[in-house]
Amino acid sequence: MARLENDTIVNVAQLLKEQVGAYRVYELSLDWFALDVDLMASNIRGQVRITRIATGILATGEVDGIGLVECVRCLEIYEQPFHATFDQEFRPTIDIRTGTPVDPPDPLEDIGGINEAHELDMAEPLRQEALLELPMRPVCGDDCPGPEVPEDDEETIDARLGALAELLDEDQVSRE
Ligand SMILES: [Zn+2]
Repeated sequence: MARLENDTIVNVAQLLKEQVGAYRVYELSLDWFALDVDLMASNIRGQVRITRIATGILATGEVDGIGLVECVRCLEIYEQPFHATFDQEFRPTIDIRTGTPVDPPDPLEDIGGINEAHELDMAEPLRQEALLELPMRPVCGDDCPGPEVPEDDEETIDARLGALAELLDEDQVSRE
């Protein structure tokens, strides 16, 4: 099996000349991968299958990785494992046989482009799907120390929580 190491770009010149249904499978391995401006993932491992379809190429992938995300409670960066799958259609921007430009796909259609060098890049679909798999409000774990609260504040908070609990209890009683 071909390997894609620390790279998300595949040359599909050969595959574009083959018949519909022809495919290649790649083992994908990315040590680091940027999910967003301030969000990294590491150790992305998985498989990608590139298939010739009538309109171009279909890339499907399945990966495991680790997002380095910030806990919303203690604000520490921790490792959040994720599993993501993607499938993305890519269309040529140049006709492989004649070398003439092809009309680009409608940007609203969410179809990727294959550049003049007959390469496609899986980074964007992978990035988008991986982001969806990460929690919206990540918490580092059951033993998260939580937000740091100065000691004398803790008593005030406990007192407030106690008052709140009493109110809730009363509410319960009045409803019965
Ligand atoms: Zn935490």
